[in-house]
Amino acid sequence: MLPVIRAEDLQAFYVLETPRGKKVVRAVNGVSLVIPENTVYGLAGESGCGKTTLLKVLLGNLEPPLRHFGGRVLYRVDGEYLDALALPEGKRQKLRWTYISYIPQGSMSVFNPVARLRTTFMDFLESHVSEKMRQELLRHAEEHLERLGLSPKILEAYPHQLSGGMRQRVAIALATLLNPRVILADEPTTALDVVAQRAVLQLLFDIQRKLRNTIVLVTHDMGIHATVTTRMAIMYAGRIVEEGWTQDIFTTPLHPYTQYLIRSLPRIGDKRLRESAPGSPPSLAQLPPGCPFHPRCPFAFERCREEVPELEEVGEQKVACFLRRASHVVTS
Ligand code: SF4
Repeated sequence: MLPVIRAEDLQAFYVLETPRGKKVVRAVNGVSLVIPENTVYGLAGESGCGKTTLLKVLLGNLEPPLRHFGGRVLYRVDGEYLDALALPEGKRQKLRWTYISYIPQGSMSVFNPVARLRTTFMDFLESHVSEKMRQELLRHAEEHLERLGLSPKILEAYPHQLSGGMRQRVAIALATLLNPRVILADEPTTALDVVAQRAVLQLLFDIQRKLRNTIVLVTHDMGIHATVTTRMAIMYAGRIVEEGWTQDIFTTPLHPYTQYLIRSLPRIGDKRLRESAPGSPPSLAQLPPGCPFHPRCPFAFERCREEVPELEEVGEQKVACFLRRASHVVTS
């Protein structure tokens, strides 16, 4: 599978002015990723590990106080690679929504709260396609909504008149309207009940299979990754600590942090207390020296406290750990 996105040594930090001086939050701290086309690619990790910021950087959406400190994001468009962070703003805007679309956390922010949904759809079309195509695409939007189990009449509603699950489905219809090659979805099922969660995931999965595009799915829920992603990366303290085929990661997790994430998943019939990693993630403004996981790692040794492990290949997986072996498995 050809890569559709290549991220190379990305560094993006929040630079905050505080009464005590400048504070630098290293949310994306040297991330390299290769995301293949025609796949659902998962990004996992605890809250605050930098997943959402990474998605923003992949989108090229860097607004202060978030600043780009290094690295590139390359998208393969018509056979050539374009650096999303180096494109002039006009071209980057064109790339967004037509080639890449974004489903943000909490669909409410997608819509104008005082406008009917039809107005939001029309505004979106006006800024991306010629007048000739607008009515036709609006008809497509209505068809999309019907495929999502929603009446086209819903376009006459205001956002607050819809349930969270319905609004999320309308946000997905809007994000997929121009058949983007890449969809970046940030926690699309957060705050939804189980039934709505399943409907939204099924919908994303159907869209991916129909368009044969790439969905980058951010969620902290490892159960969702196990169900819908084919490849995935685990993030910890602004870095990727493990990457590979989802099935391999769940059967032979190599990084101790990944092992804890998988061990904390509930299993049918197993009544034992689920165990998560001890302690809590470090502040991204005050990372420990060496491996950022060392204060929580049962296998930490001297080198871990001094050097940062690089992400290296181990068979078909990649892992950032000096031990790099499945024989080191966390136990209760
Ligand atoms: Fe643990 Fe050391 Fe591996 Fe980090 S490098 S995960 S501290 S064993």
